[in-house]
Amino acid sequence: SNRTFTMIKPDAMKSGHAGAILDRIIKEGYRIVALKMTRLSETKAGEFYAVHKERPFYGELVEFMSSGPVIAAILEKENAVNSFRTLIGATDPAKADEGTIRKQFAASVGENAVHGSDSDENALIEGDFFFSSLERI
Ligand code: ATP
Repeated sequence: SNRTFTMIKPDAMKSGHAGAILDRIIKEGYRIVALKMTRLSETKAGEFYAVHKERPFYGELVEFMSSGPVIAAILEKENAVNSFRTLIGATDPAKADEGTIRKQFAASVGENAVHGSDSDENALIEGDFFFSSLERI
């Protein structure tokens, strides 16, 4: 598919990097299909990351993702899921390549500035989680 889903996470919102991150995404050639600033309740954050509920960091992750506003977006570009994961870099910013968004803006493996869907199937599920059908035409 040519779409992926992203979120600018609370750490990047708090540190004032949201504009720079969106600018980078647009300059890399992604079309913004849908965009909103919103907040996740603990319940909603828990649902979004339900695949991780057995992981030791789940509680911390849910608390962090509900700690402040996020920006959610659906992005369009050829090979969107894979190209966007390359653009954001490794989960742990210490291991992220030079020039990636996480290398530039992320503080730690937990507070890592951005989310990017890991498959076409999840991109659809995650986009549906935040946007109505009319908002993601
Ligand atoms: P995302 O799904 O947010 O794009 P990812 O696919 O790079 O990230 P996952 O392994 O799916 O990474 O982990 C999901 C999220 O859980 C990470 O982005 C990070 O915020 C958090 N996380 C992952 N590993 C750890 C850890 N060891 N300690 C704390 N938080 C973690």
